[in-house]
Amino acid sequence: AKTGGRGMFRAFEPEMDKRLRERRALERDLSAAISRNELQLSYQPQALASGEITGFEALLRWHNPERGQVSPAVFIPVAEESGLINPIGEWVLRQACREAASWARPLQIAVNLSPIQFHDDHLPVLVAQVLQETGLAPERLELEVTESVLFDDLARTTSTLQRLKALGVKVAMDDFGTGYSSLSYLQAFPFDKIKIDKSFISQLDENVNSAAIIRAVIGLGAGLSMDVIAEGVETADQLVFLRKEGCHSLQGYLIGRPQPIEAYADQVGRFEKR
Ligand code: C2E
Ligand code: CA
Ligand code: CA
Ligand code: CA
Repeated sequence: AKTGGRGMFRAFEPEMDKRLRERRALERDLSAAISRNELQLSYQPQALASGEITGFEALLRWHNPERGQVSPAVFIPVAEESGLINPIGEWVLRQACREAASWARPLQIAVNLSPIQFHDDHLPVLVAQVLQETGLAPERLELEVTESVLFDDLARTTSTLQRLKALGVKVAMDDFGTGYSSLSYLQAFPFDKIKIDKSFISQLDENVNSAAIIRAVIGLGAGLSMDVIAEGVETADQLVFLRKEGCHSLQGYLIGRPQPIEAYADQVGRFEKR
């Protein structure tokens, strides 16, 4: 949003003024990040409970010469509020698809979508374009959206999901259990996969409710014919529990950290350096 010039902030507390200026500086740096080649993707493996790698999630990294490494938890919200998420998200989608298309093994590539991208009517057309341009088989692309997309216009959400599904891509519900969506919504939308939020996995040791919730989500996925993946798997104990409960897939530091794709060259059968 535009402001009415410098004078406008004079009435604010100096602290507020400072934060606003920092925010704008961050926005300005972020808007130049693509053209300055400061964005990069990290890739984190996703595996079956047996350990077999089935694909990777692309995670955005921003390295700015002055700021150093900035966390997506910091800059994604800024990108969303400033509208920069559209060009940045498009860059991520294109880059991830291009990368995956260069692998010898036809593994899955999961790409995160902001709710703002999801609600852009142009999204299915963009996805179709990128698939065509990169030659990636549609079924290898999985788009991760959070529960929050279900709260907006339900008819529109359903139509977007159907348009995406019609392209042959997969859709996963990310961070499941952290929002407030009712279970009946899940039935109404054609998700292929549910990702159990990492907060439930990390609390497995301390909180008995976590185990109950994880069990329930695994059962829900089985009942609705949706794959279930647990994220944030860090310990062998967590792995043992998830296997025992019949969790389909796993992701987390125990399987592999998010890293530049070069670190996983053997797994993907990468024959081309970019
Ligand atoms: P997310 O989609 O839920 O991604 C999972 C986050 O958990 C990632 O943080 C990942 O590095 C981290 N993680 C993976 N395994 C473990 C583990 O075993 N333990 C712990 N403690 N953490 C683990 P990251 O990369 O910092 O990303 C944070 C969030 O930023 C993502 O959460 C996602 O919401 C957003 N994000 C990242 N890349 C993109 C992107 O390209 N587009 C959009 N719209 N959002 C993105
Ligand atoms: Ca994700
Ligand atoms: Ca997640
Ligand atoms: Ca998250």
